[in-house]
Amino acid sequence: MTAPTLPHLLSRFPLLHDLIALRETQWFNPAVTPLAEGLPWVGLTQQDVEDAEARLQRFAPWIMHVFPETVPSGGMIESPCIAIPAMQSALQAHFAHPLPGKLWLKKDSHLPVSGSIKARGGIYEVLCHAEKLALSAGLLQITDDYRQLADEPFRQFFSTRRIAVGSTGNLGLSIGIASAKLGFQVSVHMSADAREWKKALLRAHGVTVVEYAEDYSVAVEQGRREAAQDPHCFFIDDENSRNLFLGYAVAGVRLKRQFTDAGITVDARHPLFVYLPCGVGGGPGGVTFGLKLAFGDDVHCIFAEPTHSPCMLLGVHTGLHDGIAVQDLGIDNQTAADGLAVGRASGFVGRAMERLIDGYYTLSDDTLFTLLGMLNQQENIALEPSALASMAGPWRWDEAYRSRFSEQAQRNATHLVWATGGGMVPHDEMAKYLARLR
Ligand SMILES: *Cc1c(COP(=O)(O)O)cnc(C)c1O
Repeated sequence: MTAPTLPHLLSRFPLLHDLIALRETQWFNPAVTPLAEGLPWVGLTQQDVEDAEARLQRFAPWIMHVFPETVPSGGMIESPCIAIPAMQSALQAHFAHPLPGKLWLKKDSHLPVSGSIKARGGIYEVLCHAEKLALSAGLLQITDDYRQLADEPFRQFFSTRRIAVGSTGNLGLSIGIASAKLGFQVSVHMSADAREWKKALLRAHGVTVVEYAEDYSVAVEQGRREAAQDPHCFFIDDENSRNLFLGYAVAGVRLKRQFTDAGITVDARHPLFVYLPCGVGGGPGGVTFGLKLAFGDDVHCIFAEPTHSPCMLLGVHTGLHDGIAVQDLGIDNQTAADGLAVGRASGFVGRAMERLIDGYYTLSDDTLFTLLGMLNQQENIALEPSALASMAGPWRWDEAYRSRFSEQAQRNATHLVWATGGGMVPHDEMAKYLARLR
């Protein structure tokens, strides 16, 4: 760790005692700003997000062609959003606290192609790269029908290029599947947390899976190193990529459309609270950016992390961002929430987004499994452990945060829990998750 010593940090930031003790805790940032003030720090604009949406539209015919499960949505990789009243009742009883407002679930767990939030950013980044290569080689014009990308000349062209990425599982799954479909040679560097079934599925798609006994940071570093040695290899940088971030951000306008269709009002008197599981930060950060652009100051985003991997809370709270890792506090980064097993947050996302994220909380693996079982029982929805991190959010407000909103606004509120993954978890794996409860 650079600069401040641990005793110095602890005296300046007493909250770190909770993190070190692995106690569930929360922190609502007193320094959040309105969107207009926070936006310049992001370094990206509404136009960038619109460009991303337009690019996804260009690719829609190809997506529909190679991933037939996207035909009903016209080649859009998008997920349903549903009310979960039975779960809301069960949670109210469980936490012994009524929730004014309504609880909804955003089912990114059921996104087509790869069954997690990574199907937004990961696939988008691969498409960006493929488009750039094909355009600059003169093989493609942006006015063309992109279905031709499935034809042999394109596959031949992409097969001479390589893509590499480091992942705890779901990013690798998304990037591996999309890259392989285009014909790229792709290697996924998987951390020790990655589930066996994800590696097997990738190998079945012809993806090279490199396994590490270490955590995410090491897998990313190795991927970066491999790519640096090969000018034809493109490294997808989960910690710093603007394109990944923009792929996630497209969720904002799309959710706004879904809310309009569902008759859900979002304005100053009807605020929207969104709870997002956070790993390195790109997924929840990008979605938050998109939501802020779509709903302005009427949407409030709160990030959720495992008690064993609270990297974003640590980075933003201390202002050290990627200059500190949970391991520097002696926290082990060992969690069953494999999608969130990240010890050091993205420095880009923390610095860009900290003014626009209302708060952060941690929860134990035991809580994650309790929530996993409850959701399965109440709503018959199966998610992976990481995705449940968002579920406790509405019950984790502190009094100071509550006092920021009128009682009427609280009664009118929509609480949206972002379910980030689990749609492709095999049956026997899910059975093991459920068995942990007994
Ligand atoms: C990756 C992931 C997240 C968090 O996304 P980051 O970009 O790493 O913050 C949350 N849930 C699941 C299931 C994931 O795979």
